[in-house]
Amino acid sequence: MNENQQTEMLFPTAFNEAVEAFHLLKQQHQQTKIGIFVLHLGGLTRIHSTYGFSVVRQAFQKVNKRLTAYTTGLGHYFSIQETKYYLYYAEQDGLTLQQFAEGVINLFAEPLRFAAYEFYLQAKVGLSVLPDDGSDLETLLKNAEAASYYLKNEKIKRVGVFTPETNALLFKKVFYENNLIDAVKNKEFLLYYQPKICAHTGRIISLEGLVRWDHPLMGLVPPGEFVSLAEENGLIHLLGEIVLEKGVRFLSLLQSKNLDISITINVSAEQLLSGNLLPYIQNLLAANPIPTHRLGLEITENINLYDLEYVIEQLHTLRDMGIKVYLDDFGTGYSSLQYLQQLPLDVLKIDRAFVMNLEEREVDQLIIRSIVGISKKLDLEIVAEGVENPRQLEILRSLGCSQLQGYLFSKPLPEDDILSFIETYSPVYFS
Ligand code: C2E
Ligand code: CA
Ligand code: CA
Repeated sequence: MNENQQTEMLFPTAFNEAVEAFHLLKQQHQQTKIGIFVLHLGGLTRIHSTYGFSVVRQAFQKVNKRLTAYTTGLGHYFSIQETKYYLYYAEQDGLTLQQFAEGVINLFAEPLRFAAYEFYLQAKVGLSVLPDDGSDLETLLKNAEAASYYLKNEKIKRVGVFTPETNALLFKKVFYENNLIDAVKNKEFLLYYQPKICAHTGRIISLEGLVRWDHPLMGLVPPGEFVSLAEENGLIHLLGEIVLEKGVRFLSLLQSKNLDISITINVSAEQLLSGNLLPYIQNLLAANPIPTHRLGLEITENINLYDLEYVIEQLHTLRDMGIKVYLDDFGTGYSSLQYLQQLPLDVLKIDRAFVMNLEEREVDQLIIRSIVGISKKLDLEIVAEGVENPRQLEILRSLGCSQLQGYLFSKPLPEDDILSFIETYSPVYFS
């Protein structure tokens, strides 16, 4: 039974309505493109497990209110599940299908507010188009679903448009998913390292460990292809342990060579929330004694607000152990400034998106300047990511960033190569 058939059985009325409305719309708009949208809302299940069904019901009502207000006179929507909606929109002058989809996403930019809580929902929309991507509803929904499914890999993009490649990408994803369990079992992973450079002296301060999957047939698979899969299916915990162990061992090696360099490891929010991370790290450090201030964890900004208290507690414990806490991808999440004051942090990493076009975009310079200002007040160090040319380096130094990381210095390298890099490194841009 496919998912549409399951939906049909679970929500017969909504599904029948959706089918009828599709045929009607198709008749009415024979010359126009019609967008078939699948909206997924992340976060409701967590609200359920944290606050119970009555809060979910209220959340559901608020979602429906926003969708009704948006689609009235413009399109149609159907609640298929609490976390999933179908929408139709026949293209009109002045509002493209893509813009309609972005409008749907924007409905969830504001949190849902209740007396005592505030929740952000993560909206993702998949889009397929009649007649380009199919003529019957089943195909169009399948394709919209495929477009949205592929989005799960994306951190920033929230609208997925079906293209002929979507199915191939999806196929690859399913292939990886099926192979990942064995990969974790066989520890088919390597950690590459990329240096972070002191913006004042040019010295190598630390190395960021970046995981690669050493697949027996596919070769090296980058983390963007499998980390979010591992987060979805829970393998991230075992994968995270493999990565941490490698990182800590490499740190021991650096220590044995008298190299005064730290290591940072990326940690997913799921790992932090599981409660297993701290005991694992404690055991690991008991078996591999290292100066803990040389170990850093990079967590990303997209931690949901309702988990905040628990996250704060975990981070405090890590810092009490001496471990440095980095906030990664800063500027790409939802309520950045709100987090900043509450999270116990040592270092902020400014996302590559702000560095990428720094030379031309004065607004990015302004943003970085203000982030640096805030972080000085909060006594945080600032790493700028994705530094690719000397001009960016100069600007970032003048804006007051304390560390720099990017291809300008080095790509992420395997253990042996990073060791030779360290040996032969000289701070050419800092004389
Ligand atoms: P990230 O933590 O933001 O890592 C930075 C990414 O930007 C890396 O991609 C790095 O290779 C790339 N990068 C660094 N400098 C430059 C530059 O100058 N220009 C450009 N264009 N790119 C640059 P990578 O290795 O593919 O990692 C992607 C993401 O995967 C990481 O983003 C991180 O979020 C995640 N990741 C990597 N390793 C792990 C891990 O062990 N655990 C978890 N949970 N996530 C990981
Ligand atoms: Ca990182
Ligand atoms: Ca980052």
